Parts: sequence; structure tokens; C-alpha cells
Amino acid sequence: MANKKKGSDDNIRCSFCGEPVNDYDIMVPSAFNNECYICSSCLAHLNEAVKEFKAAHGMSSDSGSHCPTDIKSVPKPREICDFLDTYVIGQDSAKKYLSVAVYNHYKRLTQDKSDDVDIEKSNIIIVGPTGTGKTLLAKTIARLLDVPFTIVDATVLTEAGYVGEDIESLLTRLLQAADYDVDKAERGIVFIDEIDKIARKGDNPSITRDVSGEGVQQGLLKLLEGSVVNVPPQGGRKHPEQKMIPVDTKNILFICGGAFDGIERKIAQRLNSHVVGYSNSARKGVDRDNFLQYVAPQDLKSFGLIPEIIGRLPILTHLEPLDRGALRRVLTEPKNAIVRQYVKLFDMDGVTLEFTDDALDLIVDKAIEYKLGARGLRSIVETVMMDAMFEIPSTERKKFSVDACYVLEKLRAANFEINNV
Ligand code: ADP
Repeated sequence: MANKKKGSDDNIRCSFCGEPVNDYDIMVPSAFNNECYICSSCLAHLNEAVKEFKAAHGMSSDSGSHCPTDIKSVPKPREICDFLDTYVIGQDSAKKYLSVAVYNHYKRLTQDKSDDVDIEKSNIIIVGPTGTGKTLLAKTIARLLDVPFTIVDATVLTEAGYVGEDIESLLTRLLQAADYDVDKAERGIVFIDEIDKIARKGDNPSITRDVSGEGVQQGLLKLLEGSVVNVPPQGGRKHPEQKMIPVDTKNILFICGGAFDGIERKIAQRLNSHVVGYSNSARKGVDRDNFLQYVAPQDLKSFGLIPEIIGRLPILTHLEPLDRGALRRVLTEPKNAIVRQYVKLFDMDGVTLEFTDDALDLIVDKAIEYKLGARGLRSIVETVMMDAMFEIPSTERKKFSVDACYVLEKLRAANFEINNV
């Protein structure tokens, strides 16, 4: 039934305020009762009332806007990967896996449910040394996404009833990211960091109870595979008096990341045992400087993840260690690169800041020398720039150049070498 304007039927009145149709208003008919209308001013009032009600009850006011309805409007894997490239250096394999996984996640959300084929989710696990970009990848994905996204840490979790947080609290953050809109949260993505910290501690779990290891893995299983779980709205531990929010995890995509320190040994053992008895050429094909590239589900099992968890994380990918060239690029290339951030800081004081190439090379050398990796780059630059950031805003200086001598002088003055050996 069409909306009514004055002239089309002047006897029509708004069923809410009783006003007749006029020149400035339209009447929207009820879908169920053709004698029922609502005028646009009553509609506007109702809209306001709904917004106020939702705000008062912690509900989102734009329900549904986070759900793509057409896969054509969603960025393609290549576009997702290109976007990741602008923030994250290298890690091509992980970028590819993540881009496809996120795209497929959208596909699953927009799939036609009328046929028998149900696209199931493929949770991901990323193995990579610390400081190589696991969290950065997750955060960058979050910038692009149109679904609620949260990063949670597995280290705080313990089995229900023990000190620590209940496993369900992982979803509290997602609910918060979705403004407590359960529908939205049920389509979100959760990045679980430090998943390796809940690995089984020993081979014999029966002697002492492993409340932060295997017990947590068992609890995590039901979240990963998809079930309705009761989530404490404020997180932490579940209290009997707290009202729980049921959340269905069937469509929530889980991306897990962990450093898995020492997993290289397990990979090497497996590869060695495989190549024993074969010709040397099989052994020669193995790149011994980077065992992580050969990581396989059985290595995760040797490390202490239970097979059921591994089975629920069917996509396994790895991050490369960052070499000198990559670290150098990390300093300047990403959109959010450390050097760019300092240039911006100085620019806000009207000062043009520049780093000479030899200064940047030296910063990278120091990060490698002290085994600080990409994380160390920031602390080195911070140490080098501290005096300048303190002094320059009070001067008339318009240009400031940092060269290798300046870097060395500042690191020495700050006892950086002593503090980091
Ligand atoms: P982790 O793998 O331990 O989660 P992060 O993602 O937290 O490491 O990386 C720490 C910091 O190092 C980031 O904030 C970023 O500045 C830098 N970084 C690490 N890896 C990369 C990378 N591949 N590209 C760009 N910057 C990186």
C-alpha cells in the first residue's frame, strides 16, 4: 500500500496523533491493517524514542549496519591484501591466508541459506616469532572490516572455577565491540593472541591439574566449533547473580596467533625423522634457517595443543622472521611507520624532521645487535629522539636532521647499550 499525501484521501488520520493528512506530511500505512496509518512526525518521534530506549539499555542504534548483504560490495582478497601491504611489511603468505579467510567469512554471512550447501567457517592459526606482526596484522584487518572485531589474550584464561577469567569472557570484548548487539557480535571476528600459552605443559596431565592449559583448551573447543555460550556482559568471572547473554559462536571467525617458542625444534625433529634413510637431496631441500615455514598441524600437537583444537583451526600459516632489509622497511614504509610518526610529531611544532640513511641503518643495526626485533625499533628511536622532543618545542628551530653520529651519541648518553645487553 502506497504512502498517502493530502488530496489522495483527505479522510485519512494518523492512528497515533489523530491528525488528518496535510500538505507537509505523508501517512505511512500499516502492513497489516489498511485502516491504520502513521504520520511522518509521529514516525520521527517514535524513532527518537527507540534510539533513547536502546541507548538506555546499552543496545546499538544502528543494528544490522555491520552485516554486508551483498558479496559484491565486499573487498576482494586481493584488495584486502593490498590494504594489509600498506601497513605490514612482508608476511606475504599470512596476508594471503588472512585475506581469503576474511573474504570467505563475508561470503558465509551473505550466503543463500535456501540450498543444502552450508559454508562452514575456517578458523585460522598464525605461528610466528614475537614482534613479527601478528597483532599488527590483526589490528590492520580490523581497520578494514565492517564486522565487530576484537583482540583478546589467551594468557588470562583459566578453567572455570579457578583464578583467572572464564573462557566465555573472550566474547565479552566482542559484545562490547558490537555495542552489545548480539546479532552483530555473532558475525564478528575474534583474534586470540598468545594461544601457545595455553598449550599442555607436560605429557602427563593427570598428576597435577593443568587449569590454564589443557582445561582451557577443552573450554575453548566449544567456542571454536560453534555453540551457544553464556557470556558475562562485564567480563571476568561468571557470578551467579550476573545476567548472562547467550551468544551463538557458529558464525564467529576465530584467528589465533602465537609465538610457539621452540616449535622449530619439533619441526626439525619431524623433518629429520622423515628424511632419514632418504638421499641427501631430500635433506638439502630444507631451509635450516627458517624451520617455521614447514610448520604442520602435528607440530602444534607436539607443542601441546590438543588435536581437537587443532582440528577446529584448519588454516595454519606462519610469519617470517624480519631480516635487516625488512626492519629497515618497517622504519619508513608502512602508513603508520615509526619515522612517519616522529615526522608528524615534529611537524605539529612547525619543525621539519629528517633522518639520514646512515642514521636509519644504524638504528636497524642496533635493533639486530640487541636482538630487539621490530619492537625494539621504537624504543631505540624513542631514546634517540627524547632530548630533541624535550628541547626543540621551546626553540625557533624549523629543521632538524638526525644522522648516525647523533644516534650513537644519544644511545650512549642514555646507556642504551648497557641497559640492553
Ligand atoms: P607480534 O607478532 O608479537 O604480535 P606485533 O604485531 O605486536 O608483534 O609487532 C610489534 C611492533 O613491531 C608493531 O607495532 C610494528 O610497529 C612492528 N612490526 C612488527 N612486524 C611488522 C611488520 N611485518 N611490518 C611492519 N611493522 C611491523
